[in-house]
Amino acid sequence: MKIIIVGGVAAGMSAATRLRRLSEEAEIIVLEAGEHVSFANCGLPYYAGGVIEDRGALLLQTPESLAARFRLDVRTRNRVVDVDADAHTVTISDLASGEQYVESYDSLVLSPGARPVVPPAPGMDRALVLRDVADVDRLVAAVDGAGEGGTPARTAVVIGGGFVGVEVAENLVHRGIAVTLVEMADQVLAPLDPEMAIRVQQELAAHGVDVRTSAQVTAVTAGAAELSDAQGNRIGEVPADLVVAAIGVRPDTELAVLAGAAVGPRGGILVDDELRTSVADIYAVGDAATKRDALAGDDAGEATTLIPLANLANRHGRHVADVILGRRTSMRPSVGTAVVGVFDLTAASVGRNEKRLQAEGRPYRAIHIHPAQHAGYYPGASQMALKLLVDPETDLILGAQGLGRDGVDKRIDVISTAIMGGLTASELADLELAYAPAYGSAKDPINMLGYVADNLRSGETRSVQWHELDDLVAQGATVVDVRTAGEHARGTVEPASADGVALPALNVPLDELRERARAEIPADRPVVVHCQVGQRGHTAARLLTQLGYDVRNLDGGYLTWRDGKLARQAAATALAPVGA
Ligand SMILES: Cc1cc2nc3c(=O)[nH]c(=O)nc-3n(C[C@H](O)[C@H](O)[C@H](O)COP(=O)(O)OP(=O)(O)OC[C@H]3O[C@@H](n4cnc5c(N)ncnc54)[C@H](O)[C@@H]3O)c2cc1C
Repeated sequence: MKIIIVGGVAAGMSAATRLRRLSEEAEIIVLEAGEHVSFANCGLPYYAGGVIEDRGALLLQTPESLAARFRLDVRTRNRVVDVDADAHTVTISDLASGEQYVESYDSLVLSPGARPVVPPAPGMDRALVLRDVADVDRLVAAVDGAGEGGTPARTAVVIGGGFVGVEVAENLVHRGIAVTLVEMADQVLAPLDPEMAIRVQQELAAHGVDVRTSAQVTAVTAGAAELSDAQGNRIGEVPADLVVAAIGVRPDTELAVLAGAAVGPRGGILVDDELRTSVADIYAVGDAATKRDALAGDDAGEATTLIPLANLANRHGRHVADVILGRRTSMRPSVGTAVVGVFDLTAASVGRNEKRLQAEGRPYRAIHIHPAQHAGYYPGASQMALKLLVDPETDLILGAQGLGRDGVDKRIDVISTAIMGGLTASELADLELAYAPAYGSAKDPINMLGYVADNLRSGETRSVQWHELDDLVAQGATVVDVRTAGEHARGTVEPASADGVALPALNVPLDELRERARAEIPADRPVVVHCQVGQRGHTAARLLTQLGYDVRNLDGGYLTWRDGKLARQAAATALAPVGA
């Protein structure tokens, strides 16, 4: 059997090495257009920032090492330019010699990845992208010499506030560059909801990054980038010795189209659960290929999705080898689990966010908690923000987001595992998770999410979201802050009344609530209780419910409300003119 693999990085090389482990007989040729195979694209921003000092550390394998260990025929600087699906051949351009040649195949694996998108605007040819080692070499050279007269760059504009954009921004700061991060949406990190993303923006700002949301770069000039609002109205200019475009990637479907393979509605090469394209003996894997969406619900039209992440590319690669050699059948649907470091903060997410569930018109229940990552009495405890989205009918988990200095990745991974295992949100309460004071809590944050989910599912508590509070107050609800007077004085929930006036909450500390409630809290209208994070609020809500009140607990407490309000303010002021 002769197998040709197009693209020799994550998906392609996983396929090639797995094929060899399964079959000593197969002839395996890997064709890679670039200089390098099996390099660490995820490490590129950190090499640019000097965090990874050794460029050689990015190069995980070479054609020689792969030949020695796996007897793979790896040809770099060999670009596949055509596919004849009927004849089962590919045409290859040898970029070193300029010659073209043809290879036949029994099975063809397309793993060409996804190409960075550069926004169309005058001067954008100066924009750098970050996909491979040649790109990072260009970026490092630009950092070292893009300033006036070949001096090191002092200013940069990063276009795009997604995972790669924030990583690039951080790493340019590590190189002493003043960075402006420009994002078209009204928040960075689209997988997060606004009340979570605002903390990422604050973290970037705290480290000197000038974050411009609701803005786009409409022109790049010699030393600057011109910014406009979403409608294209000019709002100013920011200095830019160098410009990096990181607005996202587009699956590379060129060869698939030449081969006559179908492309999915969102642009990836359409594959079935065995990673077969619509053309016989041609498979597609990695960023170029569609994934089956584990969270699509009943909407069959949305059943395929694009998730350009390394874990999935590697899984695809391993899986396609099994399929080609007749070992296994179905690829599990994908949930989309991602994590990114932003200076001292970690942001992670899995599955659907609230914005998307709203856009899809799907019912959901949101839960915010703010626990410490490990026992509060153990040195180094720091607060996280976790958000869980739950299907109110089935109690199944639809998504989660996490932010914090430590322990966030672990919690999102547990939730990702729970989603894949079909656990309900309430069942998180019963998970047995490793605990010692330095690592977690006897009631782990994951268990806490489960407790809240179970209380909501059973109707023991009702909650209100930060963005729903104004409406409840306009309808006459009383807001009661059950924290101490000191906490209340440091800042409290101030929902706007129907006429837009901010109304501070009534302060009745939890420990005095039993005695003071009847005298101070009107019993003839709804009550919203809040504390700092929602936990005392739950106890208060239970108490007032048993006293006969119609009560809701403010989900995530003051902290979530404050972050939501900050996110709204940041979005509203994002269009303020910037310095010329
Ligand atoms: C800067 C950066 C940071 C990232 N960080 C993370 C991270 O932290 N976590 C994470 O999960 N993911 C991350 N990713 C995404 C991850 O790298 C990709 O999901 C993964 O590399 C996709 O693997 P792939 O094999 O599908 O494509 P690629 O790794 O892009 O490899 C495709 C290869 O195919 C070659 N090719 C294309 N067309 C042809 C052709 N016609 N002939 C021959 N060769 C061809 C290309 O040259 C390329 O080398 C990051 C990506 C980048 C760029």
